[in-house]
Amino acid sequence: MTTEENVPTPNSDDARADLDCLIVGGGPGGLTAALYLARFRRSCLVVDAGNSRAALIPRSRNYPGFPPGITGTDLLERLRQQASEYGARIEQGTVERIERHPLGFLVSWGGQRRIARRVILATGIEDTLPQMDDAQQAIAAGHLRLCAICDGYEVSGDNVAVYGEVECAIGHAAFLRTFSDRITVVGYGEHDACEQAVALARHHGIELIRDRVASLRACADGIELVTASGDIRRFDIIYPCLGARFRSEVARALGVDCDADGALEVDAHQQTRVPGLYALGDVVVGLKQISVAIGQAAQAATAVHNGLEANPWPGSR
Ligand SMILES: Cc1cc2nc3c(=O)[nH]c(=O)nc-3n(C[C@H](O)[C@H](O)[C@H](O)COP(=O)(O)OP(=O)(O)OC[C@H]3O[C@@H](n4cnc5c(N)ncnc54)[C@H](O)[C@@H]3O)c2cc1C
Repeated sequence: MTTEENVPTPNSDDARADLDCLIVGGGPGGLTAALYLARFRRSCLVVDAGNSRAALIPRSRNYPGFPPGITGTDLLERLRQQASEYGARIEQGTVERIERHPLGFLVSWGGQRRIARRVILATGIEDTLPQMDDAQQAIAAGHLRLCAICDGYEVSGDNVAVYGEVECAIGHAAFLRTFSDRITVVGYGEHDACEQAVALARHHGIELIRDRVASLRACADGIELVTASGDIRRFDIIYPCLGARFRSEVARALGVDCDADGALEVDAHQQTRVPGLYALGDVVVGLKQISVAIGQAAQAATAVHNGLEANPWPGSR
């Protein structure tokens, strides 16, 4: 293993970065990038903390190519197997730091350090889940849902609640009206723009409860919601609208641009403004879907491969 003390320089005789690319994150995006790079005969290592959002998917029915749908864990296992078959290596670990290095980047995790000529960040986001016992079971049962684009189709006439900050919740609720006419918003928020959102709710026939949620509890075939003022309601499905944390800290420490929420900004080849550092999937600005992450992974991996041919050391031109 290379240590900081004996880090070579690009001009020395033994100048070698020991990896063409290190991929941070082993969700669908990171694993697809690894598959492409391994098939380009590049040395690549995936370091993964093991908290893919995809692992929460009870059954995805909008991911192309699987007519009966596929569970998130099954998809991840297939992707790991496919990338590994071509020589990509996958290690468990949480990357703590990425530093620029004359040969590329010095990446540190769990007491290990590796030099890689390129780095791809595919670290995803972490949904803010409601305070609820057994939230994971409710997600697995499809009563608690986090992505209306993914599974709105399956709502089909159900009694649905959306809750959170009122404008955000009404926006989600209006989207869900395509799939059910029994939509309720439990929302909080004071400022003026709410009026427009309230008019939108009225226009769509959405019931609006201006309150906070005090508690959620799994019940027979649904979730019982108790408002702060004590009303008790039962819903088939609840979509919390509580935001998410972008796992972009290691990139931001390097000076990568991001939006107000922490989503990373990239160019058309998925490169951040730090030469040689790429980002893709949920952690970048844009639609949070598996097919998007996978498409971006194809772009990033191809750009990494071509860039290594043209310019082995990032920033050296
Ligand atoms: C309940 C639910 C249902 C969904 N259903 C669908 C669906 O049907 N269809 C669809 O297209 N999308 C669906 N999605 C969205 C989909 O899961 C994401 O778009 C997809 O997983 C994004 O892939 P990713 O590789 O960008 O990130 P992720 O899958 O989240 O993977 C990121 C990985 O990076 C790791 N990581 C983070 N930080 C570090 C670090 N510092 N060091 C090492 N590793 C790190 C994480 O542990 C994780 O394993 C759903 C999401 C949820 C929550």
